[in-house]
Amino acid sequence: MTDTQTVTFADLGLAENILKAVTEAGYTIPTPIQAEAIPHIAMGGDVTGIAQTGTGKTAAFVLPMIQRLSTGRARARMPRCLILCPTRELAAQVAENFEKYGKYLKLTMALLIGGVSFKDQETLLQRGVDVLIATPGRLMDQFDRGKLLLMGVETLIIDEADRMLDMGFIPDIEKICTKLPASRQTLLFSATFPADIQRLAKTFQKDPKKIEVARPAQTAETISQFVVKLPTNDGKARRTALRRVIEATNVKNGIVFCNRKVEVDIVAASLTKHGHDAAPIHGDLPQNVRSETLQRFRDGKLKLLVASDVAARGLDIPDVGHVFNFGPPPKDEDYVHRIGRTGRAGRKGESYTVVTPADEKSWGFVLKMIKKDVPEFMPEGLLEELETLPPEEKRDRKGGRDRDRGGRSSARGRNSERSDRAERSPRRREREDGDVAVAEAPAAIEAVEAVDVVEAAPAQEKPRRERPARNEKRRERNDDQPRGEKRERDRDRPQRDYKRKDDDLILEPAPDRVVGFGKDIPAFLKR
Ligand code: AMP
Repeated sequence: MTDTQTVTFADLGLAENILKAVTEAGYTIPTPIQAEAIPHIAMGGDVTGIAQTGTGKTAAFVLPMIQRLSTGRARARMPRCLILCPTRELAAQVAENFEKYGKYLKLTMALLIGGVSFKDQETLLQRGVDVLIATPGRLMDQFDRGKLLLMGVETLIIDEADRMLDMGFIPDIEKICTKLPASRQTLLFSATFPADIQRLAKTFQKDPKKIEVARPAQTAETISQFVVKLPTNDGKARRTALRRVIEATNVKNGIVFCNRKVEVDIVAASLTKHGHDAAPIHGDLPQNVRSETLQRFRDGKLKLLVASDVAARGLDIPDVGHVFNFGPPPKDEDYVHRIGRTGRAGRKGESYTVVTPADEKSWGFVLKMIKKDVPEFMPEGLLEELETLPPEEKRDRKGGRDRDRGGRSSARGRNSERSDRAERSPRRREREDGDVAVAEAPAAIEAVEAVDVVEAAPAQEKPRRERPARNEKRRERNDDQPRGEKRERDRDRPQRDYKRKDDDLILEPAPDRVVGFGKDIPAFLKR
């Protein structure tokens, strides 16, 4: 099917009760990936879809999947379709799509993601569900507990496979695949198609139809892009610049992208402290906070969403007016994803990227990729304001300690977000770079501690994490974390006899310790 313009949903062979839901969703014409994938999937064929969010890929697999499931029924603990997603938000988004398109069918669904009580999930599984939408970690947990049987799975869907790869989930996926019946249908969707994903497709798919939808290597013409070039790498200067840009640009709603989770917290706290309506979203926040923040943003009740790439990837947030990059992204293609959050469906959007001298190289990569010049933007009086920052803020002009704060991590690439667990706590950092007004009198140390905690905390009151039941506590873990691997936090933890030198985790021996001697250092060595 090549001429997608003339194809309608009815032409794709979808049943009446599905067509009705599609019409109610407001869709008239299938997107290219839908036009190609739906008939093939409906016939039971495997598909490798190279497409990213915004192409209509979710409906491309959900519509034919529910059509196939509409005959037959679910059995206890044996789902008929398994959809794997890298993050809880994406899983929840697929679940929303399932509900939207399947509203006239009697299909059941369970969402198996972290942050939701095991007990509730168990009850649903026990009753039997047609579709199970899961993050790999939580799925394996339930499987290991014997609450789930995977030999009834007729269709396996792996969504955002490249993001799974980035997050280290591929071994989990491979393990899950070995537990499924060999005669199943396997659909794999990925924005890119690196070697590891190709291997996955080759191993677990049977003669798949490869459907590639043009990825926007170019940024949309509807987005006006700007760069805000700063003369300093100072973290406070970067935050000040971000605020001034936001204030200078009539923002209705916008997303502020940061490269690390810790940065997300700091930027959100800093914006809030300065009177902006902002809230953070990243993988270390409790699920209920993430969902609530996202919903507030979608409902227009939150103006600025401060996000990490992983948390924001794949989220369908329509009609965002502005995108702000606190620094260029570690992976240059993420720039296109980020700014693609605005200017959708022909609407106008604006993006602003803060670039410091330390970011020049990564900004160069971005420019090379998008093949266009980005004009500079400088809010009035910003440069003068940066000049007046307290002297200690300027000690890193050459890029020393501050080098990778806002923009680039020296470990260029996918691990930058994960490694931030090993960084200094936001609280300490915040105090060092003076963004938080702290009492100066030494006697007020306790008060300073209190101010710091409050100031550096995320915008809203920090809700207490739901305490899991005793036997669940052991198993409760972040499902955005691959199994079997040592946690990033533990891996990066410096050895005891070393002290941390800076953000890049360069380790040097503490002066009063010598490796191998503990505290009993011979006098000549001390000299
Ligand atoms: P996705 O790529 O699945 O994340 O979908 C991106 C957005 O496109 C979602 O908001 C869908 O509701 C919307 N969408 C999906 N299919 C169509 C279609 N055929 N026509 C218009 N919008 C669609």
